[in-house]
Amino acid sequence: MGLIDRWKITLNTLKSQDRYRNIRAGDGIDFTSNDYLGYGHGRCPISVEDQASLPVTGMGSRLLRGHHPIWEQVEAQLAQWHGAESVLMMTSGFTANEGLLTTVIEPGDWVAADERCHASIYEALRICRPRKYIFKHNDLNHLEDGLRQEAQIRPVGREMFIVTESIFSMDGDLAPLQDIVELAERYGAHLIVDEAHSTGCYGVNGSGLVDALHLRSRVLATVHTGGKALGLCGAYICGSHLLKEYLINRCRHLIFTTALPPLLGAYWCKGIQRVINDNSGRELLFRNVQLFRSLLHDSGWDIRGDSYIVPIVVGEDNKAVRLAQQLWLQGWDIRAIRPPSVPEYSARLRISLHADHTPDCLENLALRLRSIFTEYH
Ligand code: PMP
Repeated sequence: MGLIDRWKITLNTLKSQDRYRNIRAGDGIDFTSNDYLGYGHGRCPISVEDQASLPVTGMGSRLLRGHHPIWEQVEAQLAQWHGAESVLMMTSGFTANEGLLTTVIEPGDWVAADERCHASIYEALRICRPRKYIFKHNDLNHLEDGLRQEAQIRPVGREMFIVTESIFSMDGDLAPLQDIVELAERYGAHLIVDEAHSTGCYGVNGSGLVDALHLRSRVLATVHTGGKALGLCGAYICGSHLLKEYLINRCRHLIFTTALPPLLGAYWCKGIQRVINDNSGRELLFRNVQLFRSLLHDSGWDIRGDSYIVPIVVGEDNKAVRLAQQLWLQGWDIRAIRPPSVPEYSARLRISLHADHTPDCLENLALRLRSIFTEYH
């Protein structure tokens, strides 16, 4: 048996025509990307000097020639925004999660993770081999059962961790962070929160849900990505000075990779200012959340979450694909999300709302959804 047989894949699954549909170019209005504040198609202008002088390559690891002063500037701005002691840039949210977790968690430690956490978190747990406790999604009782049992038998020198997201990417619901923090403190566990989908949209000047709930000093670390609401690329970890020093010395995902390009750093500096000042963008986004969810509240469909990520769960994969195809034919770019990204028999249309969707557009979409569901559901 060759590798092709073993892999069981269909070739050409990444046809650019299907994957890249330009939101504002008439081939499907974008309800798929994570461009929540609508920054994806408008770059913040940077100075002519920066454009001319800053390299488009990191040229080496951050620990060597890759350490350009612009990243210190970006990290200082981010730390101030979050009211965090320290910030460390990473090349992506995936490597930030994997790097952070595999560095701070040691074999034999105990980790409780929400069952819906992102693949990068599960990948990290596979690598660092802790004793794992996967708790039911947002289920505080199930989490506490695990903490209670572990607290009784915890081996000397072993640490306990809890890992969750603040907004779940496929369900659009918020973690009960306040309660999770209290449980973590009661049982002496360290809490790590992936803020990929809340950064830019929730909290004081958009700095995320942990800050909105004033929990910054009670978490070990938060992970943020630039590739969603911020309209950038790259990611960062917020935590203490000590954590940052430890990661710089030990994190393989930082030490053994080429640093982000300094030119991108100039866009981060502008991008941070843009998101901090854009309260009206956040207002428009939440106006859209309220409007769109209310337009469908009597539909009787299984609509999950409470944020700008609006999943309509239809169950069977084929059904979700058929509905997405019909929507696309009528000018709406909404994708079907199927297992393994979501649990079996919970295929869904994942509708991602943005600040620059107009009320008219949302009303039209709600009407379209109703007629397509009547015809094809
Ligand atoms: N965490 C979550 C919850 C995510 O949804 C994603 C992106 N899908 C990541 C981390 C990874 O971020 P990035 O795209 O920057 O690698």
